[in-house]
Amino acid sequence: IKNKLDNKIIIMVSGRIIPKFYPILVYLGIDLIDCSYSMFLSAENFYDTIEYLLPIYKVKYLPCSCVACKGKLNYLFNKKHSGEKIDLLSLHNLITASNYMKKIKQYLNYEDYRVFVEKSSLDETNLISILKILDKKYFNYLKYETPIIQKSKNIRCLGPSSYNRPDFQHFRENAIKNFEPESWTRLIILLPCSSKKPYSKSKSHKAFYNVIRKFSEFPDFQEFILTSPLGVIPRQLENIYPANSYDISVTGEWDNEEINITAEMLIRMVEKYEPEIPILCHLKDGYLEIAKKASSKLPHNFVFSEIQDKTTSMESLQSLENLIKENINKFQVKSDKIENISKSWIRKFVKILDYQFGIGSGTKVIPNGLKPIRVRGNDQIDLKDLETQEKLGVFKYSTGQIVLTLPGLKRLIQTPNSINSNYIVFNGEEIRGNTLFRKGVLDYSLDLIPNSQVVIVDEAKKKIIGSGELIVGSNFIKNSKSGRIAKIYEWK
Ligand SMILES: [Zn+2]
Repeated sequence: IKNKLDNKIIIMVSGRIIPKFYPILVYLGIDLIDCSYSMFLSAENFYDTIEYLLPIYKVKYLPCSCVACKGKLNYLFNKKHSGEKIDLLSLHNLITASNYMKKIKQYLNYEDYRVFVEKSSLDETNLISILKILDKKYFNYLKYETPIIQKSKNIRCLGPSSYNRPDFQHFRENAIKNFEPESWTRLIILLPCSSKKPYSKSKSHKAFYNVIRKFSEFPDFQEFILTSPLGVIPRQLENIYPANSYDISVTGEWDNEEINITAEMLIRMVEKYEPEIPILCHLKDGYLEIAKKASSKLPHNFVFSEIQDKTTSMESLQSLENLIKENINKFQVKSDKIENISKSWIRKFVKILDYQFGIGSGTKVIPNGLKPIRVRGNDQIDLKDLETQEKLGVFKYSTGQIVLTLPGLKRLIQTPNSINSNYIVFNGEEIRGNTLFRKGVLDYSLDLIPNSQVVIVDEAKKKIIGSGELIVGSNFIKNSKSGRIAKIYEWK
């Protein structure tokens, strides 16, 4: 319904709704919930603890300290027909419902709300099914309404209910769509994930790096990190949300669905490479199972290092080193490396830009190489052109994304009138102030996702006049006539 309605219209639901259902209703976009059913339940002698609706005679410990519970309610339990008991019970149940709603509002604004919805639904099979159906069938609606990019939040994976979270699906789809092999790749290395993010900061990945960097050819290696349920993460994209911020148990024991999700993504990634490129696997347990599953459906040659004990043991690392030695010259690279863009961070920036703005974007913005400068207490990196010294963009650690400056955008979009994604046509020639409102929007592309960067062009689509971070998605713009649309970036 939300798809067709103005977001300014308040949607209210009414009926037999208990507080337990509130989180998912809010997730679905309901603004107002009628809680009168809680009063009806009070009259039926039910005591609400959110998790359960307990018949009042079963309550022994009163897990609440509201006025009713602290007051006389305790003494009235055994009275069969007491009007006062019903009144106090109503009071407790309503306070409970209203407290829960406050919790929801808090989490909605400041935490990863999705995980709260999952957690509160786990013991209710109907709710779990609703979430599954939403993820599978309504992903294309959800992605314009729920946060696909979040800042500095820890995402916990709870199990099957998390496998197809919209932000995970979006990451997988986008990575498959926009990740283009580097033309100089001669070797692919598959590595297990680590609990510390980004992976390259973890102990295990530092140990892998020590081996890999012994080879001067290491910029020709493509590393992929296997994880579940998120999928396959190219080293260059490890800083992007949600790859930079999810938490799973890394025991390597996964169920079939997880293994299938990741194996499927591995196939899609490896398919992009020529079959003669060797694929080195430094993996064990569930990770190994994923690689084997994928290899059975690919023409590529998968080779495996010998793991003794852990993947970071001396013997295992030695085996990885030998494997690289054996395979390093098996594939003859046809095209030469582009010197300045093969450095690790630059390789990352090129691929991050592709991930955000489509294949080819990275090399458009960074043709001459870059001079990255760290600023502001390590939470971002300024990207400057090596030759012209122009500031092209800012990389933010919190989201792993790059915000392009006007010069950066102008390189990306050389002909504004042919732009077909991620844009807004502004009603006028110049934007003033730091917020773009609905009134200023003449036209827009249908792929706008909240929290991503949008390009703003003038009425004639002749030039780029600004850029901003979207507050809402395309769907909101379509259905609304007023409201805030984007925060405009200000350039120094
Ligand atoms: Zn109470």
